Amino acid sequence: MATRRDFVKAAAAGVLFHGCGLAAPAHAQGRRREVMVRGKRVRTIDFHAHCAFPQALELAGQKLGQGVNRRDLVIGDTLEQRLREMDAQGIDMEALSVNAFWYGQPREVAEKIIEIQNEGLAELCAKVPERFVALASVALQFPDLAAKQLEDGVKKLGLRGAGVGGSVNGKELADPMLHPFWKKAEELGVPVFIHPTGTAELKGRLQGSGGLENTIGNPLETTLALSHLIFEGTLDHFPGLKICAAHGGGYLPSYAPRSDHICLTFPERCAAVKLKKQPTEYLKQLYFDALVFTPEALRHLAAQVGSSQLVLGTDHPFPWEKAAVDHIMNTPGLSDAERVAILGGTAARLLGLQST
Ligand SMILES: [Zn+2]
Repeated sequence: MATRRDFVKAAAAGVLFHGCGLAAPAHAQGRRREVMVRGKRVRTIDFHAHCAFPQALELAGQKLGQGVNRRDLVIGDTLEQRLREMDAQGIDMEALSVNAFWYGQPREVAEKIIEIQNEGLAELCAKVPERFVALASVALQFPDLAAKQLEDGVKKLGLRGAGVGGSVNGKELADPMLHPFWKKAEELGVPVFIHPTGTAELKGRLQGSGGLENTIGNPLETTLALSHLIFEGTLDHFPGLKICAAHGGGYLPSYAPRSDHICLTFPERCAAVKLKKQPTEYLKQLYFDALVFTPEALRHLAAQVGSSQLVLGTDHPFPWEKAAVDHIMNTPGLSDAERVAILGGTAARLLGLQST
């Protein structure tokens, strides 16, 4: 009988589980949508997929229930359901990450939470290696620890990068305190997925109908995070970073030229940090998920940042986008090669997966 440790060890070694007692998932008998472009099968990879570990949540005093702690985030309990939903959507593989909830925790608690999550992610990936890869959780409030957790996650557990929030206890991702973490991510050459945790500072203004704390608050945090990484020179310090932003990068790509024009209109406001490039040029070295809902929004995103910078994202199991593949297939102006890249080719490269 394979133990949890065996799973973790095997995940690190990239070992497939054959003859270890795991039954073939029943979903395999169901209908799996196979995505084709010009008659050729394409492997689709979802860069924006969530999961949770109740044991880790409990350490932070949180419980599974509704909302952001939905029960179907726990893949162990709902593996069949998760795979069925992926099959129906035509998603071959998910790159799993856990939304940050531990940035306010003391070091020992954060360490334990991360250990549970990263080992749990590795175990899950080892169990169904053809359907899941994962991004490590890191305790970003302790950047030295976060750097070590990322390195251990990648080297010992076979994880493919890191997932982080859009800020850390009110501090920006561009804060110099985080340089050790960015340095490690650059050195390892692995992607860092930025997923917002909201803008608590605007709580008062985001009340009322419309769920504005999410509707606006989440993309706004990503917009702020990316803008600071650009304007504070973090991307000049660490030009090899592979950053992927959730929700199409929030509002930044929709109104990107303003970031260039602030420096033209009020040069003194851009004088404190001398950038190597125009602000909008940095967007072409960042990556973005395609979770922007309409063909027109995706067309614009591709025009602004380059189709080579886009990856498929669903937010699964949150039902924001139930037709992510069709969305990419139906966006006008993309070539077949560009569609193949957005559907999975670019994500495979970022995640260090072998091409099929
Ligand atoms: Zn999400």
